[in-house]
Amino acid sequence: MSILDDRLAKYTLPQHYMDLGMYPYFREIDGKQGTEVNMGGHDVLMFGSNAYTGLPGDQRIIDAGIEALQQYGSGCAGSRFLNGTLDIHVKLEKELAEYIGKDESLCFSTGFTVNSGVIPSLLTREDYIICDDRDHASIVDGRRLSFAKALKYKHNDMEDLERQLQKCTPESVKLIVVDGVFSMEGDLANLPEIVRLKHKYNAVLMVDEAHGLGVFGREGRGVCDHFGLTDQVDLIMGTFSKSLASIGGFIAANKTIINWLRHNARTYIFSASATPASTACAREALRIIQQEPERIQALWDVTNYALKRFREEGFEIGATASPIIPLYVRDVQKTFIVTKRAFDEGVFINPVIPPACAPQDTLVRFALMATHTHEQVDRGIAALTKVFRELDIIR
Ligand code: PMP
Repeated sequence: MSILDDRLAKYTLPQHYMDLGMYPYFREIDGKQGTEVNMGGHDVLMFGSNAYTGLPGDQRIIDAGIEALQQYGSGCAGSRFLNGTLDIHVKLEKELAEYIGKDESLCFSTGFTVNSGVIPSLLTREDYIICDDRDHASIVDGRRLSFAKALKYKHNDMEDLERQLQKCTPESVKLIVVDGVFSMEGDLANLPEIVRLKHKYNAVLMVDEAHGLGVFGREGRGVCDHFGLTDQVDLIMGTFSKSLASIGGFIAANKTIINWLRHNARTYIFSASATPASTACAREALRIIQQEPERIQALWDVTNYALKRFREEGFEIGATASPIIPLYVRDVQKTFIVTKRAFDEGVFINPVIPPACAPQDTLVRFALMATHTHEQVDRGIAALTKVFRELDIIR
């Protein structure tokens, strides 16, 4: 046993939950993502997906992927910088820039590598990065990789954001990075106020639209568009792994910023480009989202219905304003029990425990897709109501 083995052998928490029969992770699905899936031989309603537009099983997207596989092969064997750029990568970048409302965009192989690559490449030791304390892990890693001085403000607390901005030397670059929709609790960043403070302190603003795309704004352009603030936000990132039914991510900004990132973002230059199939699938999903606004309408219809029903049943659902509905449990052990019991009752939801939240804020995350029916929502909520009552979390 090496010293490392000795240390890692003490990590017994997963085994502990396996022994209790409550380990909720890495369950295998044997088919397409949809509102009902088979997980390890068990039919469940899927309320743990990020595919808000409900598109991953759409035949048109699957066909677009197959066609790209036939035409371009399975992989690009290199980074965008060298041999890995296809015409469809460039077309998608143009389409995204136009859709988002920025000069240009760049596509990365995942959303995680957008945040972890873009943030450090923009900042020097003299600069500051300022984050909401609930920002996504990929923003946290971007902050950690950057040489800039890191400042954090309390979640959506605009007075605290202003206090952090006051700490910065006025002539330095101050980059504020924030989730547009917070991924675990479903609430929105206070963008109007963040934009006001950005101007007051001459800062730069980057918004993560991972959970806003396909959900908010005109034709799903995101939270910046929803607030009419796209022009005031300097960098907008998004991912293809949620509403765009694929994998990959992008950053959209003005020509000057994109020119810098194209030649300096390390996760763009030193990592292989997105596969032909995933690129073609994202393009087709982007086309469908714009041409079928009824999808977003259906998503909001079923979301508003679920919000009303959860409130009627007495669930604590926090400040969500999106298809992500947090059902607070406020106890780590009980959160695992809820997840297991819900699964037994035929409902898949995601447990959210530390470090994704504070120990007293644990919850299960219930997320909707445009393809969920009211009847499925009723079944899901009936099962969860039963489990939450049994465990005395709601009355
Ligand atoms: N930002 C946020 C807010 C996210 O929730 C995620 C994914 N969970 C990412 C970035 C990373 O995106 P991807 O899955 O494309 O790597």
